[in-house]
Amino acid sequence: MALTPKNHSIPLSDGNSIPLIGLGTYSNPQNTPKGTALAAVKRAIEVGYRHIDGALIYCNEDEVGQAIREKIADGTVKREDIYYCGKPGDTFYPQDENGKCAYHKTDLCATWEAMEACKDAGLAKSIGVSNFNKRQLELILNKPGLKHKPVTNQVECHPYFTQPKLREYCQEKNIVIVGYSPLGTNRDPSWVNLECPPMLEDQLLTSIAKKYKKTTAQVCLRFNMQRGVVVIPKSFNLDRIKDNFQVFDFSLSEEEMKAIEGLNKNIRFVVLPFWADHPEYPFHEEY
Ligand code: NDP
Repeated sequence: MALTPKNHSIPLSDGNSIPLIGLGTYSNPQNTPKGTALAAVKRAIEVGYRHIDGALIYCNEDEVGQAIREKIADGTVKREDIYYCGKPGDTFYPQDENGKCAYHKTDLCATWEAMEACKDAGLAKSIGVSNFNKRQLELILNKPGLKHKPVTNQVECHPYFTQPKLREYCQEKNIVIVGYSPLGTNRDPSWVNLECPPMLEDQLLTSIAKKYKKTTAQVCLRFNMQRGVVVIPKSFNLDRIKDNFQVFDFSLSEEEMKAIEGLNKNIRFVVLPFWADHPEYPFHEEY
């Protein structure tokens, strides 16, 4: 299927579909002026994005919601045109009396049952997971009485971390990978592993971009989209929001796809070491 700005959704196992490109909306709330997310999401919808990735914990979900509402009100889109991914929780980063992360008692199967109830109640059309490794996916898939399978697993995925094994496993189970940090993150040292070099400066990616007169970012996005991995690049810059959506007027050859796959370094940008002692920390296992 040729991917076009208006037609680039892929099927989910529950009968719904997901646009292959969405706008990421995480930005450090401490240094992002109020109204930035609102303007960015409105811009994204105007230039053609129909998938927005948000979360309560990004502290801007109200602006994202307002942007979607305004674009529905002015007739640009209908609610059913928009795929919105949200990630709820009740307390942000609770700490114990020693200032250490205080974890909830985690029961992934019980949490999944609560998600199933949300779907059954019509609060979510599709339900998926994030940062799940193979063992955790199996836990859900093999849960006695499973009612709805996870349709997506949102994990880090880009040319420097191509996730070959998890991707193959998810393909087998009909779970779509949604690739976060598809441009290699914002390189904020407070949460990004900077051992991994800046991906957008990569020589091979830059040379391929030059050949097609595209940006390195567009090549990174196209790479994942072409292999069925959904991308959610974040930008709050009005020009880059538009540029990142211009990924439908070129395609990478099989050799180029293979060469980009060869860039995999198996090093994560997003390691979240402060949660490494959590019993369900997902990154101790290989995949
Ligand atoms: P990305 O890989 O999307 O990179 C974002 C950074 O790249 C920003 O600094 C942005 O700056 C910059 N940028 C955007 N477009 C371009 C371009 N064309 N050229 C150069 N630089 C560019 O990183 P994220 O880590 O934000 O991941 C994307 C989204 O994935 C998040 O926003 C969030 O929605 C989701 N996510 C989910 C996680 C999870 O655990 N489930 C974890 C991490 C992310 P600017 O805004 O100035 O353009």
